[in-house]
Amino acid sequence: MSIYLDHAATTYVDQRVLEKMLPYFSEIFGNPSSVHGYGRDAEKAVMAARRQAAEAIGASAEEIVFTSGGTESDNWALRGIAEKQKSGHIITSRVEHHAVLDTCRYLETQGFDATYLPVNETGMVSAQSVREALREDTILISVMFANNETGTIMPIREIGQIAREKGVLFHTDAVQAVGHVPVDVEELGIDMLSMSAHKFYGPKGAGALYLRRGTPIAKLLHGGAQERDMRASTLNVAGIVGLGAAAEIAAAEIESNARHESELSRRLAEGLLALPGTKFNGHETQRLPGHVNISFSGIEAEALLTHLDLAGVAVSAGSACSSGSTKPSYVLLEMGLMTLEARGAVRFTIGRENTRQEIDEAIEITRNTAQRLQQLSPLFMQRKGDEKRV
Ligand code: PLP
Repeated sequence: MSIYLDHAATTYVDQRVLEKMLPYFSEIFGNPSSVHGYGRDAEKAVMAARRQAAEAIGASAEEIVFTSGGTESDNWALRGIAEKQKSGHIITSRVEHHAVLDTCRYLETQGFDATYLPVNETGMVSAQSVREALREDTILISVMFANNETGTIMPIREIGQIAREKGVLFHTDAVQAVGHVPVDVEELGIDMLSMSAHKFYGPKGAGALYLRRGTPIAKLLHGGAQERDMRASTLNVAGIVGLGAAAEIAAAEIESNARHESELSRRLAEGLLALPGTKFNGHETQRLPGHVNISFSGIEAEALLTHLDLAGVAVSAGSACSSGSTKPSYVLLEMGLMTLEARGAVRFTIGRENTRQEIDEAIEITRNTAQRLQQLSPLFMQRKGDEKRV
């Protein structure tokens, strides 16, 4: 098997999580809404998972609503607030995940206004720009906790303070952050937060939206009275149990995993940046511990990752959701990268199971592959020739 360095796309399900989930497929299979014992057993498991998810982010259990993942949580947060308010202005950033960006664009077609804040060269939004964008009719600020392509962590505490000061609701897409860096909704002044289990060693298709008590939000799905009558549909009990178990494990191990991932990502970045024609993208320190985004001059990232896949290293170009498209990453372009630099950007995301030996192997394979492709690139060779002549 190849070396997996694409944990921001998804993670495997931790064995301990899987073991917790398994009984809920066919042994304890009841519908948590049923009154009989089967139902009560399932309901008990859901309640425990709600507590686990809440504790991982400093919330109370009744403030957690289970969803199918990050996309649904993001859509609901934005559309649910908009529907309740009927009109108004939303502040977001230009580097959000499409789940937020496209929802804002949709809301614009429905008569809402949106401001898309720029980022600096490290991919960070400034809290001051949030303050300056506020209007009388601002109903919501939605700024991601950490970017999925670069790992850059946004000034969430400062934005939370501004939101509180001005009495505006604050949502954060924390899909990449939860389980990887400490998140405390009380301390950070967050009113709504999206999370997704498959980004922290839980199952796919299981997510949650944190809703601060009293947040005025429209219901998402009409039908049954599940999730306090806000999101109808029979609960995905096994998935929810997995989310809870994964959140508890991630929270308990957050420091040691972050230390391990930081050490390996430093090693990987140093090893790759020693190669001529490479450039680091993102923030040096305010970054998720496992993220390393590097541009390789003169190479199309799509070509590099196809060759890396054949050579035994699994990585992605930009975000996984946009792979297959040959467009350069909008996140990197917003950070001021030239189109060619953005086209040559590869995202390596390290996970808790990666070893030093794997990183050293990945460095060697990547360097050899990149050099081989660069030698085939007329653009790179010409630039190298020009540099020599200067
Ligand atoms: N938000 C961010 C920042 C993400 O990275 C992702 C997934 O990559 C999502 C939202 C969507 O999450 P899900 O795949 O659970 O729908």
